[in-house]
Formats: sequence, C-alpha cells, structure tokens
Amino acid sequence: MLVSAQSSPISDKAKKLHFSSIVIDTHDDTTQRLLDPHFDIAVPHTDGNIDLPRMRDGGLTAIFFSIWINGKILGPDAVKQALDQIDAVREAVRKHPNDLILATTADDIREAKKQHKIAALMGVEGGHMMGNDLAVLRTFAALGVRYMTLTHMQNNEWADSSTATPEHNGLTDFGKDVVREMNRLGMMVDVSHVSDKTFYDVLDVSKAPVIASHSSCRALCDTPRNMTDDMIRDLAKHGGVIQINYHVGFLSQQFRDYEKAHPEAEKEINDEVKKRCGTDEICSGVAGDQVVRDFMKEGKLPKVDWTLIIDHIDHAVKIAGADHVGLGSDFDGAVMPLGMEDATHLPQITDALLKKGYSESDIRKILGENTLRVMSEVQRVSRDLNK
Ligand SMILES: [Zn+2]
Repeated sequence: MLVSAQSSPISDKAKKLHFSSIVIDTHDDTTQRLLDPHFDIAVPHTDGNIDLPRMRDGGLTAIFFSIWINGKILGPDAVKQALDQIDAVREAVRKHPNDLILATTADDIREAKKQHKIAALMGVEGGHMMGNDLAVLRTFAALGVRYMTLTHMQNNEWADSSTATPEHNGLTDFGKDVVREMNRLGMMVDVSHVSDKTFYDVLDVSKAPVIASHSSCRALCDTPRNMTDDMIRDLAKHGGVIQINYHVGFLSQQFRDYEKAHPEAEKEINDEVKKRCGTDEICSGVAGDQVVRDFMKEGKLPKVDWTLIIDHIDHAVKIAGADHVGLGSDFDGAVMPLGMEDATHLPQITDALLKKGYSESDIRKILGENTLRVMSEVQRVSRDLNK
C-alpha cells in the first residue's frame, strides 16, 4: 500500500469499519484509460489513481465509471463515442469476471460486496451525448447507465452549465422532459456541472431525489462548480446527496485564487505534461494530476492537503446532515491533493471522520449508504411512474 508522507497510521477501528462498509465513489474518469488497448485495469499502475488492485487496497466497493466526451462534440459523433465508452466499461467487466460485476441497482452493489467483487456502474457526464434524442437516453439506460450529469462545461441545447454564459435560463421545456424521462427510467439526475438556475429547475421537475456526483462546497472554495450552502440544503430537502469532489481547485480557496492570479501556471503545467506525454492523449489525461502535485512539492504551486476533503465533508454534514453527503472523487479526471494520490488512501477518510467524533453509522452513510438510499428511491419512483 502506498502511504504518503502526510498520512498518519490508520487505527484498527477505522480499518475494520472501512473494510466492512459499502464504499461508493460516484465519479471516476478511468473510462478514458479503458479505451487504451494497452491499459489493463487488473494490474497495479504507478500512474493514474485507479486500478483493481488499488481499489481493493482502498476498500472501494463500487465505482461509477464516467462516460465523458468533450462538450463541444455533438450529434451522431457524440452518441457513437459515448457508446464506445459504455462498451469499454462492459468489456472490462466481461474480461475480469472474478473482480468486477456490472451493477445497476443498490442490491447489485450489496451483492458485489458479498462476493468480494467490485461493482462497476456507469454515469454519462454531459447531456450532449444523448444527441437531443430521448431514444438514445433510453438506450443508455438499457445498457446499464444509472445517472446522467445534465451538462458538462458547456451549455447544451436544453440546459445551462455552471461554467458557460447562460442561454436558456436553466432548463428548456425539452430539458424538463429529459428529467421526467430519467425519472421514469430510474436514472439518477446528476446536478454537478449545471448552473444554479438549472439546479433549481431540476428540483422543481424531478419526482426523485437527485445527486451532485462530484461537487464540493462553495462556502469553502468559491467556484461555480461547487454548491452554495442553500443549494446543499435544498438538495437534501429533496432527499438527495452531494458527493464531495477531491479536485484541488474545488477544495482549496488558496489554490483557486492562485490559479486565477497566475494564468501562466496553466501553460507551465501543460508544457510539462507535453514533455512527459508528447501527443499521447490518454497519457496527458492522467499526467496533469502528477505534474501539479510535483509542482506543489517543488513550491511552484500552493500545497493542497487531502484533509481539505474532510473539511468539505464536515461542512456539508453541518449544513445538510450526515444523510446527504457522499464521495465522488473525480479520480483519473482531476488533480488529487497531497496524501490522496490514489484509491489506496480512502481508508484515511474513515479514520479522520472517526477522529472527528463521527458515529460509525454516520460514517457508513457517507461512505456509501446514502448513495444506495438514493438509488433505491429513484428505482421506487421509476416503478410508480411506470404503473
Ligand atoms: Zn466533471
């Protein structure tokens, strides 16, 4: 097990609790690596954050593989590339039947835990991939996709993103139909990435609880990708869960301010990634994570420690209660803080929450039970709507 200089030993109590709990990560971008024919998820890697041995070391029960393409790719190309990624996840499960189970329900995840396997789930990150076609959305659901993030960084034709200039004042009428159809299909609506107005439109329309699969708290780090205290409270009132994102630029105000004040830093990071990866896109996808941490250690960027993840969890719990917080790392798609270099470090979260005085039952909820509850509730609503 890789242990960073920052992490203290994990208590036996924490280990016991962590490895007996259902631990769910609702957002991982490892799918991009699955597209590389040379990448084998079953062997340990020194780069990236996720592979099967490291998931086992970190006690991860279930992972939502993100189906993601750039938000500027639209129409049939977008649909085709999304289907290729869905196929890549399903093929990974087929090739590793002793390690992975394709899961679509809360019961499937509990069953995977019983069988000492890892549950593989899928979420589509960006409504642009359904090509404005509810038939494609239904096909995604039939292939096992269990959530869709309504937008990525760009607006699409029916929903505004948090990182673009508003065009639709939230959801269009068709956007509302998408949410209704997701409710009927039993797909979770994911509000990470959407604009604040889109978020409130979703809460108005959705008959089922919704998730923010990988967002953190705006009160601690002011970026439009994070949620305000009011949004977290309203999400919770609606039965939903905010799954805390570990990305350094969403955790640390100091890092975020530095990024804003020093736009040249991004170029320096990109130059270093190019030096390490050349034109290899898949290498570039994970190398930035390492480069930023190397720069932090060299003093070129503000240091961001993994314990900020605990601060965001604790803030969200204070705002919304322990029933409405979960984990959505953004592993293999973002920059992990020092001390959370990969999935092997997850037991530190359990240890830190115990040391903060959290009850074992609240910790189990945060690790995975809250997400299971939303999945079951979304299924129940789907059954009712299909009656
Ligand atoms: Zn994202």
